[in-house]
Amino acid sequence: MPIDPVCGMEVSEETELKLEYNGKVYYFCSPHCKAQFESNPEKYVKGEGMKHEHGHKHGHKRHGCCCH
Ligand SMILES: [Zn+2]
Repeated sequence: MPIDPVCGMEVSEETELKLEYNGKVYYFCSPHCKAQFESNPEKYVKGEGMKHEHGHKHGHKRHGCCCH
């Protein structure tokens, strides 16, 4: 599933809301997102492939294993 680069949601490849930019086709969920992209494509096209950083924070607390 292609991702709408503006809002980040998944869109169907069958949508007519698509745009070719730098030889790559981008799909959009709404005319609004497409217009956003058209007005400032470089804002949404950053390098190759989007990297999602998931900040996993697991609060690992050490248990005092030496106490009975
Ligand atoms: Zn969108």
